[in-house]
Amino acid sequence: MNGPIYLDYQATTPVDPRVLTAMLPYFSDVFGNAASRSHPFGWKAEKAVDNARAQCAALIGAHEKEIVFTSGSTEAINLALKGVAKMYASKGKHIITSLSEHKAVLDVAKHLEKEGYEVTYLAPDEKGRHSAEQIEAAMREDTIVVSIMWANNEIGTIQPIHEIGKLCKERGVLFMCDGTQAAGKIPVDVNEAGVDLLCASGHKIYGPKGVGFLYVRRKNPRVRLVAQMDGGGHERGMRSGTLNVPGIVGLGAAAEVARLDLDSDAEHSASLRERFEARVFKALDQVFINGDEDNRLPGCSNLSFAYVEGESLIMGIPNLAVSSGSACTSASLEPSHVLQSMGVGDELAHSSIRFGFGRLTTEEEADYAADEIIRAVNKLRELSPLYEMAQEGIDLSQVNWTGH
Ligand code: PLP
Repeated sequence: MNGPIYLDYQATTPVDPRVLTAMLPYFSDVFGNAASRSHPFGWKAEKAVDNARAQCAALIGAHEKEIVFTSGSTEAINLALKGVAKMYASKGKHIITSLSEHKAVLDVAKHLEKEGYEVTYLAPDEKGRHSAEQIEAAMREDTIVVSIMWANNEIGTIQPIHEIGKLCKERGVLFMCDGTQAAGKIPVDVNEAGVDLLCASGHKIYGPKGVGFLYVRRKNPRVRLVAQMDGGGHERGMRSGTLNVPGIVGLGAAAEVARLDLDSDAEHSASLRERFEARVFKALDQVFINGDEDNRLPGCSNLSFAYVEGESLIMGIPNLAVSSGSACTSASLEPSHVLQSMGVGDELAHSSIRFGFGRLTTEEEADYAADEIIRAVNKLRELSPLYEMAQEGIDLSQVNWTGH
């Protein structure tokens, strides 16, 4: 098999050919500025943007007037959290989030802390989940917003969003949800879930990079935001700047394809994931699934291989484009903050790898990936005295390494 095999669908996805076809005219023939009201060039661009807005809204059960286009989820998260924090500061300055959120949320939270807001960072359970009860216990009179992601990008754990949404409604607290990994992959309905703000990103759903949206609830309650980008008053004043028409058309087309193919896409990715894991588990012992097997994104498999070192493992599988749980967000050797927050020990966190299966992955690729990882793990374990000792039944936690 000719490598490298792409198994990193949580990091990004290729643009679907149907999406690319939809986008192409908007780079050249239909190049107008969607804000030009006085001629057909502008009207055509505006019509395409309106169509994309409806496609994005349909993906998440929203109204098209509730969609604000952004440059992606990072920007949408900044707008949502900083925007509500500023708007509702007179009501309170307390925010609740999770230690396992994406850095885009955690770094915004840190920024807000410096501006005088108080943030409670909740630790998830060992599967990466939060209960509504845990969130309720952290709520205070001055809590203005809860920010919990729908599905985690590293381990694929899906949160009990509907229960959290119900709680937030009852308590009159806004609920912001990072839907980047969920929208387009599993059913997402903002009304059923009681979500007030939700972000999504084109490049995670076979659309282009650099474009996404923020859903902002308009009724029950009407959510208001302080804009983070001032200028010409685009996007109903919430996000100024000339619209990225080709990108937005691509995002809309990707949302439409994802909505129509949701079930078959999910079935395809999940069946490859099951096939891959079954093959790995048949051949190797001491392999652990990180996350929640019962509530997991269809194409996500995060595994820890005991007694092997993560970086050596990654080097042992040069033909697989995967993501490692160690050193994943920086050049440091810090293990993943998500695995740490769930209480996964440093050693297992260091030996974790995320395999992502998606629309273009084939059965042959899943089998090849399993065989490659089995080969690499076996090779490293042959060299590992610790693995040998464990095989002999020695309890490594009881070993007196210093000899005293
Ligand atoms: N949130 C989650 C859960 C993600 O997986 C990502 C992507 O890395 C982001 C936010 C940031 O998205 P974007 O690349 O659109 O800024």
